[in-house]
Amino acid sequence: MLDGSTNVVICTHVNPDGDAIGSSLALKHYLERKGKQATVVVPNVFPDFLTWLPGADTILIYTKHLEQIRAAFDAADLVIVCDLNQPNRLGGMEEVVMQNSAPRILIDHHLDPNTEFCETIISEPAMCAAGEVICHILSQNGEIDNISENEAICLYCAMMCDTGAFSFNSNRPVIYEHISHLLARGIDKDQIYRNVFWTASEGRLRLQGYLLYVNMKVLHEYHTTIITLTNEERHRFKVKNGDTEGIVNIPLQMLGTKLSIFINEDTEHPGIMKLSLRSVGDFPCDQMASRHFGGGGHKNASGGKLQCSMEEALERVKAVIDAYADMLKE
Ligand code: 5GP
Ligand code: MN
Repeated sequence: MLDGSTNVVICTHVNPDGDAIGSSLALKHYLERKGKQATVVVPNVFPDFLTWLPGADTILIYTKHLEQIRAAFDAADLVIVCDLNQPNRLGGMEEVVMQNSAPRILIDHHLDPNTEFCETIISEPAMCAAGEVICHILSQNGEIDNISENEAICLYCAMMCDTGAFSFNSNRPVIYEHISHLLARGIDKDQIYRNVFWTASEGRLRLQGYLLYVNMKVLHEYHTTIITLTNEERHRFKVKNGDTEGIVNIPLQMLGTKLSIFINEDTEHPGIMKLSLRSVGDFPCDQMASRHFGGGGHKNASGGKLQCSMEEALERVKAVIDAYADMLKE
């Protein structure tokens, strides 16, 4: 399908993360090297710590570049959907993708992919990132040693971001075989790490201190923490887009923590509380998110939302945690 295409649109999920942006850009560089036109389109803005990625300046954002995105889809003879398993994860872009008549390929690693919305599905939930799925395809096709440094940078960034710099979901030896091939393309993985993880503003560090010192609730019996952030606090601390990224992971550093929940009031839709869930070990965040918070995700990282005040969200979250007491206590 790639060989037969000339004009490819690559799209990914709402609130795109390092895997979404990294794997989409890797595909773009790969296709361009093969002489094709390739455009990456995303539903909304991506965090500043990803803007250094090669090609990031060419990404079209649905909330800003609507007409250019419509034109790109009109011209497309192939659409690649990357790092998502349900069409609604395309956010506001869902309609323009679903109404497009070009064939679609899904490249993903989430559980239970919807098998209806793409003709061709390449999905492997055992893999750590959509970027790993792409490495696997390139290896199978004998292409992994032909890729450019830019392709390698984007693929490394994708896998690094979805594994917390290879600190979770990253025990399969083949991941490091892929990384070995990427390093051979001349990438500086230490620089990639610093570009993503050591870019905090003063505001971000102070917010982190405030959220941990003042707002974090520790439910000791349940080995669970809850951190809240309202829009009022967001204004008070001049919180910028991306400043809250990764906050939910910090409480997992506390010995014995099994579950960390971050309740974050939606900036664009006040009154909607976005939830991020992270766990250590076997606790099923995805099940908690899908059963109680209208969301989903992975076993150790999931998300969802509640439409209510922060006080009510806190009470509802505590009640849900209590329903999992068997798993969380002990
Ligand atoms: P985050 O906490 O970083 O926003 O999301 C963590 C993971 O949870 C994402 O990679 C995604 O797989 C999943 N996720 C987050 N929000 C939602 C949601 O509203 N619905 C579903 N199905 N999955 C979500
Ligand atoms: Mn991913």
